[in-house]
Amino acid sequence: MTFESLGLPEPVTRALADAGYDAPTTVQTAAIPPAIAGADLMVAAATGSGKTASFMLPALRRILAARGDATKRREKGSVYGPRVLVLTPTRELAIQIAKAAETYGRHVPGLRVATVVGGVPYGAQLKALRGPLDILISTPGRLLDHLQTGKAELGHVEMLVLDEADRMLDMGFIDDIRTIADHVPATRQTLMYSATFVGNVGHLARSLLRDPQKVEVASHTDTHANIEQRLHWADNSAHKNALLDHILTQRELEQALVFTSTQRDADWLADRLADMGHHVASLHGGHPQGRRNRVLQGLRDGRLKILVATDVAARGIDVRTISHVINYGLPMKPEDYVHRIGRTGRAGVNGLAITLAERMDSGMIRRIQQFTTQSMPVTTIAGLEPKVQAPKMHAPSSRPPGHAPRRGDARRPFEHRGNDAPAHAGARGNPFDRALPARDERRAPAWEERRAPARPGPSSFKPRGKPAQRPRPGGFSR
Ligand code: AMP
Repeated sequence: MTFESLGLPEPVTRALADAGYDAPTTVQTAAIPPAIAGADLMVAAATGSGKTASFMLPALRRILAARGDATKRREKGSVYGPRVLVLTPTRELAIQIAKAAETYGRHVPGLRVATVVGGVPYGAQLKALRGPLDILISTPGRLLDHLQTGKAELGHVEMLVLDEADRMLDMGFIDDIRTIADHVPATRQTLMYSATFVGNVGHLARSLLRDPQKVEVASHTDTHANIEQRLHWADNSAHKNALLDHILTQRELEQALVFTSTQRDADWLADRLADMGHHVASLHGGHPQGRRNRVLQGLRDGRLKILVATDVAARGIDVRTISHVINYGLPMKPEDYVHRIGRTGRAGVNGLAITLAERMDSGMIRRIQQFTTQSMPVTTIAGLEPKVQAPKMHAPSSRPPGHAPRRGDARRPFEHRGNDAPAHAGARGNPFDRALPARDERRAPAWEERRAPARPGPSSFKPRGKPAQRPRPGGFSR
């Protein structure tokens, strides 16, 4: 299969050749032809599958087609807003998608891509929204702010993409998404990407999409063949630290992403590792955007070897040289485990996902194994073996027929959830919209940011040499 045979125009296929892509990935092969044909899509694809290109390439084709269409010509001086709107849960992911748009659209003449995300000043964003614009990539909250002040024009959007819709709903953005969708013409094409389409995500899909085609190329039960999973049992936190210290000094470790459960732990652990001489920084939602950008740049250009992060902050990180993902603190939800380990093994290279667990974590380990339907092989390190006997773990299995599924059980992405309500909904009946958190709470990006307010402290990220160039999230990226 070639990109040309999927119906992509020459400027796009040339950019893909420049990027070194030989052939489309499975999700690209499955989603691009129907997307080009104009269909609405519900796509269940795992992170790392090449899903960004699966919507961005048809989007660029649409923009090129509009350039040659006299009926879509734009008058100078008028504000039209974007032709393509991508909504995404986090700032990092938005910036990542904008980069992909620039890479794939580098031969599209005069392509205008802008990001509108929270945590950065309004000025450059306002300028971008008023100027000529092809693709707008935005987090829902900030875009809604601009809509409410009349600064954002969405009346000419032809394609709406909801990326990581399940995560946007987890973050409480459902009302914002609906309001934004109401401002986009009903004639639009809508592409929705999510790890799951059960519960509220399915409800949202049914209300926003017209006669959608379903594309399912990967699910949370996939084997992650190129990611080796390991589980180390620790007797206590001192033992856990010793295991971590040993793993971080292994020669095969290129770059490591270490997950903690709270912002406080992320700062504490980064400080501890910095004291030991590691090139390390922490990344979480309590940091200002400028710092977050610099940290990510430090990771990309290799000045940082270790990043200690919380779940939300690490979303969208796409760095091929991350060889190790280490779960120092366990996630709150099994889905997050899948997102975490997907930060390694990017674009076909091998990765190692190591979980450090204490006895009290055994319930979550069980839930994760049940969710992924895979077991994490227990591993020990010579000289650092646990002294306490490891908890008994049964091989993950599907529940026997006739049993109602429990939250966290492995399910097909489009399977109806019935009374097994999603995490943020009521337990019985139609849970849609019922148990949404209060408005103030919704603005808090994630559970961890509420549970552990950031401790102001010294930044452990000290860029060396030439300061890293700052991406410009608010302005034109081209
Ligand atoms: P995504 O799932 O969109 O986050 O993409 C995962 C990674 O795969 C990114 O680093 C992309 O640059 C890379 N990628 C996407 N499509 C292809 C392709 N057809 N061939 C090789 N790499 C790709």
